[in-house]
Formats: sequence, structure tokens, C-alpha cells
Amino acid sequence: MRTVLSVVFSILIISLVVCVILTRRSNKDIKKSVAFLIASLAIPVLGNLIIIITTKQLLATIGYYIYFLGMDTAIIALWNFTYKYCEIKRPHVALRVLIYVAFTADVVQYVLNPFFGFTFGTEKTLVEKQIYFRLVPHIGQTYHRIFCYGLFLIALIIFIVKAIKSSKVYAEKYWLIIILLGVTAGIESYYIFSRKPFDMSMIGFGLLGLLVFFFTLHYRPLKLLDRMLAGIASDMPDALFFFDKSGKCIWTNEHGRNLVGISKEDYSNVKDNLRFLFGDIDFSSSGWFKRVTLGTGDDEQYTFLSMRSVVDEKGHVTGNYLSIRDITEDQRELKREMYNSTHDSLTGFYTKEYFFEQIEKRLRSDKETKYMIGYMEIANLKTINDVFGSRFAELTIKRSAEFIQEGVSEKSLYGKLSDDAFGILIEKEDFGNKPVEEKLSNFVVSDNGLDYHVLIHYGVYDISEDDEIDVPLFFNSARLATTMIGDNYQSVIAFYDDKLREEIIHNQLISNQVYGAIKTKQIRPYLQPIVDSRGMLAGAEALVRWIHPDEGFMNPGAFIPVFERNGLIADVDKHMWRCACEILADWKSRNIDSFISINISPKDFYFMDVVSELKGLVEEFDIEPEKLRVEITETVMVTGSIDIFKIVADLREFGFIVEMDDFGSGYSSLNLLKDLNFDVIKIDMQFLKDSERNMKAGMIIKNIINMSEDLGIDTLTEGVETAKQFEKLFEMGCKLYQGYYFSKPIPLEDFEKQWFD
Ligand code: C2E
Ligand code: CA
Ligand code: CA
Repeated sequence: MRTVLSVVFSILIISLVVCVILTRRSNKDIKKSVAFLIASLAIPVLGNLIIIITTKQLLATIGYYIYFLGMDTAIIALWNFTYKYCEIKRPHVALRVLIYVAFTADVVQYVLNPFFGFTFGTEKTLVEKQIYFRLVPHIGQTYHRIFCYGLFLIALIIFIVKAIKSSKVYAEKYWLIIILLGVTAGIESYYIFSRKPFDMSMIGFGLLGLLVFFFTLHYRPLKLLDRMLAGIASDMPDALFFFDKSGKCIWTNEHGRNLVGISKEDYSNVKDNLRFLFGDIDFSSSGWFKRVTLGTGDDEQYTFLSMRSVVDEKGHVTGNYLSIRDITEDQRELKREMYNSTHDSLTGFYTKEYFFEQIEKRLRSDKETKYMIGYMEIANLKTINDVFGSRFAELTIKRSAEFIQEGVSEKSLYGKLSDDAFGILIEKEDFGNKPVEEKLSNFVVSDNGLDYHVLIHYGVYDISEDDEIDVPLFFNSARLATTMIGDNYQSVIAFYDDKLREEIIHNQLISNQVYGAIKTKQIRPYLQPIVDSRGMLAGAEALVRWIHPDEGFMNPGAFIPVFERNGLIADVDKHMWRCACEILADWKSRNIDSFISINISPKDFYFMDVVSELKGLVEEFDIEPEKLRVEITETVMVTGSIDIFKIVADLREFGFIVEMDDFGSGYSSLNLLKDLNFDVIKIDMQFLKDSERNMKAGMIIKNIINMSEDLGIDTLTEGVETAKQFEKLFEMGCKLYQGYYFSKPIPLEDFEKQWFD
């Protein structure tokens, strides 16, 4: 007995020490209180080991001291551990103090026992003819027992309450400890009260330590995990099928059962049904996945199948599972997103980036076909938007898109490049530009009885064989070509070629020089005299000239159209008007009573407030407004959004004399005459030219003059080159004359020399 128990106790002590060491290495929060408990449990076992080994009373007594003090420590450790293990709050500080005071009192009475002997003593006893020393308890021992049992009971009650309150899967970890505590305590009590010298319950202590070690640090609630995983698998949106090692289906979740149409218990048809639905499925291997599309058209359903294996801790495959996911919504969403990011919402055309990509792909893959690049711009979209509203502007864009769609061949590609521009990749063979040009120049959008002539500009770039594929550059060239198209309805197509390129470069050059040229008066007015019917000077028209250091003498035709397109015209005109005012101010000081007519470009109205600009000038130079005559060309009236009626009225009210330039060159001259109040009309020189050969043209001039007279409007005829013309016009009753017959436009000094000296 002595040997057996010594060996068992020793093994227990060693095991507990090992557990303490292992526990300290753990990284769990609870490790401190676990280590403390296990270490404390080893002390009473050590005490008992000494008690049973020794035959000396002193040693046995020491063993008992170790045993009792160890019990105190163990019970405090159990108490601590209980709170940690059950995850509840520590008790109130008063209670804690009380417990530690009780604990200290117990320790103190053991310390005093050698002197007073009121706690316990030992006495010799014989068991199986062997000497042992058993316990003789005194009154103090009762206190020790009350302390130990009391705390033990509280811990036990906490465990029991916790076990009852927890859900089943968690309760097992409490119940195990409760049973162990109960059994150990029972055996311990038996030995204490039977006063046997060897305490079998120490085995229970040891086991309690080992179990605490296991449950707190290594136990995982497998049942709990199982249930959680099964719950997740059942609720998964995927259909799941589990197969054992032999390939037999052993379980599927509800989605799976619905998918293959089987009842809960019968898995025999699963594989056949899956093959029927998804075609060939490889049940024998895992790690694969594939997409399967079911149905067609709108009912199309996209699925994603993947087979994976289940592996145990050792890495052995225990089975496979197939998951089938319905990815129809994802796929549709993807397609929608793809479409939206690559297509314009209004027209359904490709967006610029995607369009460029497609062109690049095509040009790289199809080297046989010859292609051209088309850049089609709605030139007056802004005006349409301002005048008719955004709804009509959108309609215009849509109609333009339809126009492109209908007009191109299958092989063409088209896309939207910006708010008002489209791009087209055209097969060269298909591009006969005449019909396109005709159609484009008569492009009318109709809505609710409103017909509006949409001004289209179409730039074309012919891709040559030597060109490196650079789609943005191609379109830039095509777009540049459109910048050379004027704002008229006659021409709508421009081709980008070397000549055009040079022209563009030249235009850029002179545009960059314009401010310098104004400052240095390279740009300045020439004056052409205007005479009355007696041939006497009435005034002059200021016509712009650019005496260019490199290009030489430049007529307005060489730069005015360029500046009208890029807006620099406003600066040139302001400069010209200022020069005219300077001259008039000088003439005023010299008592010269002639007027100067200035030209206003239709584009000026878009870039400045012409009326207040002119008012400002005459006020600044202190000249009479009627000396500064204002020429507005007839075409300005038809270009749209500006309120020319108000402008003319304002100018006249201030005292300017307003002249309608190039009368008869446009479409609606007579209408304008009816609606607008001008002071003078300048008959377009083309009429005079035509009248040489054409009787009708002469008649028209005569009638214009007569009609104007009736309306109280003066007439001026331009382009008078011969005495005969002068005579004829005089007979017709024309008031003012201008033309080479009298003088060409000349520099100011020459003009003054010729007419004032
Ligand atoms: P416009 O206003 O109709 O000016 C009359 C044009 O006819 C001038 O050409 C003038 O030199 C030319 N001309 C005058 N008499 C005769 C003639 O007997 N026979 C012929 N064949 N031509 C004659 P120019 O100076 O080359 O100006 C051309 C156009 O440029 C002008 O036409 C006007 O629209 C524009 N322009 C000229 N100066 C300015 C300016 O300062 N500002 C603006 N915005 N436009 C200007
Ligand atoms: Ca003019
Ligand atoms: Ca004119």
C-alpha cells in the first residue's frame, strides 16, 4: 500500500508540475488562475506523500502542515479559478476581504499550533503492520474545515448555477467539473472523518488538476462547432452536396434537395439528377470549378459549380463536397455595368474610350480593309439648347445618332465622343461623299411641328498605310478638319490632308501673333472713301489690313475667317473701332466733317456687349455717335440666338447710324428690311457685277433703291469700278457710292493727302 500510493502520488505531482509548465506557455487569458490552481493542488498531494512515506512523527507532522496549508491555498485558487472559468464578475470587495481574512486566520492558527497545539496533533497507528501517523483534530481543525468547505461550496454552487443557465452545448464543460469536484470532495470527506492515514482523495485532487488543465486549455466544444457548421451549411444560399470517400452522396442542404428534386432521406438519385442538369460532372476528383449556363434568352441562368475535398487533421481526404451557386444576378449586374460603362445612355453608342479600343482592335486585326475616320459634330447644338431647350437638344442628338446608324455599313463602328460629337470608322469603299454631304446639309430635326435645320460639320481623316495606329490622333485630325468649315450651310465636309495641316499650322501661328500685331499696329485700318452723287467725299469705310513682317501685306480674307472661328475677331475689331475713333477725334479737332464706317463681325456679338463697347468708345473720344457708322452684315440676322432687333434699336437710339452690309447676299434680305429699322443699306457688289450682263440684276438694284427711298432708308452701292456704273446708279437714284472707281482702300496718310489737301 505504502509503495503503490507513493508511486501514484509522485506520478501525480510530476504530472501536475508538467501541466503548470505547459499552462504557463499557453497564451490564453485564463492561464494564470489555471496554473495557480494546478500548482496549489500539487501541494496537498505532496503533503500526503510525505505522510505516507515517513515513519517519523516529526516528518509526518510536517506533511500534515503542508497538507493543510496546501488545502488553504488550493481552495483560494479554486475560488479564483471559478470566476475566471465561469466568466462572471469577481465578488464585491468586502466579500473578498472577508475571505482573505479568514484565510489568513487559518494560516496563523497553523503557525501558532506548534506552541499551543489547539489545531491538530498526530498519533501513531498500525495499518497492515506498518507504522503510520494519523491526524488527531482539535478545535482549530474545525475552523479549517468550515473555511475550506464553505468556500468549496460557494464555488460548487457557482458552477451548478452556471451549468443550469447555459445552453446545452456549453453546459458540458461545467458539468464535468462539477462531477469531478463532487466526487473528489466526497472521497476527501470520507478519509478526513474516518481518520485514515492515507488519503485516497489525493488521486481525485490530481485528476482535478489534470482535467482543469485539459478543459481550460485544450478542450474545444466539438458538438457546438458541429452544430454551427451544420446550421451554416443548411442556410447557405449555395446548394451543397457532400460525398463520402467512395463517392456516395451522404448529405445535401435544402437548396440542394430542391435543385435536384429529392426527399430528405433518399440520396440515391443525386448524381444522376446533377448530371442531367449540369452535363458531365466529375465526381471522382476535387479542386475543380466550372460555370454552366442553363436555359436561353431571358430565362438564362448562370451557375458556378465547384468541387472541393474535406480533409481531416492528418491531411487524409475524408470526402468531397460540391457547391452550386446561382450567379445569374451577379452576371446580369456585371453585364449591365459593362454595358453602362461602355455605352452612352442617351444614344446607346459606344463611349469614347471603349469606341477607341474597338477601333484599335479592328485596325490591328483587319489590315485588308481600307478605313477612314469620321468626326461628326452638331455645330449649333449650343444654340439649339439655348433657344429650344434641352429636350429638343437631346432629340437632336438622338436623331443625329440614328442618322449615323442608318447611313453606315455593317462593318462600320461608331461612338459618341462628346456632348455634340460622334465618331465613325467608315470603310473607305462605302464612302461616297456626295450623297452624305447632301443629306447632311439638309439635316432637319422635327418635333411638334417645329422643323429645325441642324448644322452638321463633318471632318474626315483618311487612314493611310504608313500611319501608325493612333486612334486619338486620327480623330484629332478629323476634328481639326471641321474647324476649317465656316458657319454656312453650303459646305459640311472637310478632309484632313497635308494642305489642311499646313493651313491649320499657319492659322495657329498667326493666332499666336495677333496681340503683338495689335500692339505694334501691324494690324491697322485702311480707309476707302465713300462719295455722294456729286462725287464729293462723304466718309470712309475702315477696312482692316495686317502689314506682317514675314508674310507681307495681308488682306482680311487671309485672317478674318480664322479669327472668327477662334474668337480672336473680337480683339481685332475692338482695336479697329478704337483706331476709327482716334481718327474721328483728330478730324473733329481739325473740323473735318466726314464719317467712318466700321465693320462688326456676327461673331462679335457672342464675345462682347457690342453696344456698350461702342458707346464707351465715343464717350471716351468725345465724338458724335453719328460720325461712327456701324456696318452689320445681313447674315447676322439668321444665325440665331442673339437679339439683333434690340441691338440695332439700342444703337440707333444712342445716335449711331446703322448700315446693313452686303444687302442681297443672304436669303431673307427683304424680310429683314420689313422687320428691322436701318439707316442705310449697302447693296452687295455682286448685284452690280451681275447687272453688267444680266438685265434682271439691274432691275433689282433699281427697285431696291426705290423701295428704300419709300422706306426712308439711304442706299449705298459698293464695288463701283467704272464711270458707267456710277452714271447708271446715279440715274437710279442711289445716294452713296464706294468702289475702286473712286479709290481703293488706302493708308490714312494717303487718304488725307488725297481728299483733304
Ligand atoms: P466688306 O465689308 O463688304 O468690305 C468691302 C470689300 O470690298 C473690301 O474688301 C473692299 O476692299 C472691297 N472693295 C471695295 N471696292 C471694291 C471694288 O470696286 N471692286 C472690288 N472687287 N472690291 C472692292 P476687303 O477690304 O478685302 O474686306 C473684305 C471683307 O472683310 C469686308 O467686306 C468685311 O466683311 C471684312 N472686313 C474688313 N475689315 C474688317 C474689320 O475691321 N472687321 C471685320 N469684322 N471685318 C472686316
Ligand atoms: Ca463693310
Ligand atoms: Ca459689303
